[in-house]
Amino acid sequence: MIQPQTCPICDKKMKSSKQEDQFPFCSKRCREVDLYRWSNGNYVIERNLSPEEAAMMESMENGEIPPDMLD
Ligand SMILES: [Zn+2]
Repeated sequence: MIQPQTCPICDKKMKSSKQEDQFPFCSKRCREVDLYRWSNGNYVIERNLSPEEAAMMESMENGEIPPDMLD
């Protein structure tokens, strides 16, 4: 069963087919809100990463799945 897609910003349910260009957000506005948060450093992903976590992040950025996640 497919779960309804919800917007990560406003949590509104949406029909993905019509809003693919804004995916995964429900609207251009929510997309801009997300960008704004990023630019203000509210999403801090490079905080206190252990060497293992840093390596995992790097692998994921390269599109690789770390072997220990394939369990
Ligand atoms: Zn939204």
